[in-house]
Amino acid sequence: MTYTLPFSTPVQITQGFFGGQRTQDYGTHRKPNRYHDSRYAVDFGLAEGTQLRAARAGFVVQWQDSGRFNYADFLQDDADSELKKRAAKEMNFVTLCHDDGTFAVYAHLYYQGVDYELKERWKKTGRNTRIEQGQPIGWSGNTGLSTGPHLHLVVCKGSPKESVPIVFKDYQRTLDDRVLFPQLHKK
Ligand SMILES: [Zn+2]
Repeated sequence: MTYTLPFSTPVQITQGFFGGQRTQDYGTHRKPNRYHDSRYAVDFGLAEGTQLRAARAGFVVQWQDSGRFNYADFLQDDADSELKKRAAKEMNFVTLCHDDGTFAVYAHLYYQGVDYELKERWKKTGRNTRIEQGQPIGWSGNTGLSTGPHLHLVVCKGSPKESVPIVFKDYQRTLDDRVLFPQLHKK
């Protein structure tokens, strides 16, 4: 299954599969954390307020856009875990369930940054709200545990504990950081 890019601005991947980053020793996706497995998550460096579209069709499972803040300070391993949990709850997101049962999480959206139409439809049809590939889902932001404006996109299989690799139709470069930045993945 191929995905289309969820935005139309030029692509800058700031963190590919397995968590390598250009700017730091290693990224936040390297290991699964207590919330979900991010090993196959991708971070796109998008300015806040970039319109996002569904990379693949699916039904809305859940969404939130009441979070206002950014909590980069709680990203450290030694951060207070209760505060970290609270901070993570400020993360705005949309989750779509695909026809094969995998689901995509679009995370760190703007405050009140879930698409208005999607929310209006959700009021009437809840989890039967269908979003087609390319339909607007909201605007990117920097909420929750985030070190800067970006879209975090991850596709999981069955449970948030298992992320799966994704391929974009209109972006043929590898997303595998072990290939992009091998120096960051030496043991
Ligand atoms: Zn991320």
